[in-house]
Amino acid sequence: SKVPPIILNNGVEMPQLGFGVWQVPDDEAESAVTTALETGYRSIDTAAIYGNEEGTGKAIAASGVPREDLFVTTKLWNSDQGYESTLRAFDTSLEKLGLDYLDLYLIHWPLPARDNYIDTYKAFEKLYSDGRVRAIGVSNFLPEHLERLIAETSVVPAVNQIELHPQLQQRAAREFDAEQGIATEAWSPLGQGKGLLEVPAIVAIARKHGRTPAQVVLRWHIQLGNIVIPKSVTPSRIKENIEVFDFSLDDEDLAAIGALNEDKRLGPDPATFDMV
Ligand code: NAD
Repeated sequence: SKVPPIILNNGVEMPQLGFGVWQVPDDEAESAVTTALETGYRSIDTAAIYGNEEGTGKAIAASGVPREDLFVTTKLWNSDQGYESTLRAFDTSLEKLGLDYLDLYLIHWPLPARDNYIDTYKAFEKLYSDGRVRAIGVSNFLPEHLERLIAETSVVPAVNQIELHPQLQQRAAREFDAEQGIATEAWSPLGQGKGLLEVPAIVAIARKHGRTPAQVVLRWHIQLGNIVIPKSVTPSRIKENIEVFDFSLDDEDLAAIGALNEDKRLGPDPATFDMV
């Protein structure tokens, strides 16, 4: 594959760029994931709450791509936090995906008010030591949640998947993750394709390189060292989004994108998000 790996803190290799399937209905996930696999993606990011683990699994099964060449991530939904419920939810996800092991399992949100992520993570450690998942991690964890997790459990999370794009650059979180040996994975890396791709600085850099704004933003993530999982159901965009390993942004481009940070969240604040 043309996508380089990031080496996680347990030595497992994860493709630096993968395919996200949030908001893709189950019956469309099969064709979108099929297109992604045909295009060369080998990492797929889903979640129990997305309701498309079955469609994703069908595409994987039909693809003919050897299992060991794939990197499949899913996430434990909030209502399943807790030790026993996590073990059950993992079995359900694996069954829906049609897999006999998972590559990466993430706690979807910390839900600090519920104070249940430690027990939940202990079940993750059990799944990991049983060899049912190759790496375990978290999503939407703030440094304070990670500090507590690291103090009270044994396996340092391999990945923290957080909202991250040029308008929410997450400098402190990225530095904290890096100090702890945790890889930072960017969700909504394209800012959900809303205003970001029309920002004049991005458009200008795209013109300069003969690339699209989406490619410039994804390339920025790659050069920062982020793992990225752009989503699209449009075949031409699915292809465009992986074609980011044959050009580079220069220091001037990186500085111009660096200046776009607004600390602007598109999604919920992990400190208060409490939906189950
Ligand atoms: P994204 O930033 O990947 O943007 C996707 C949207 O951008 C598409 O729907 C489309 O409208 C547009 N787009 C995609 N490619 C384009 C292109 N080449 N040119 C122009 N427009 C393009 O947004 P996302 O789906 O929110 O995030 C990506 C993935 O991150 C999700 O699919 C999911 O897997 C994950 N995610 C995780 C969490 C979490 O809480 N852990 C939350 C949100 C998303």
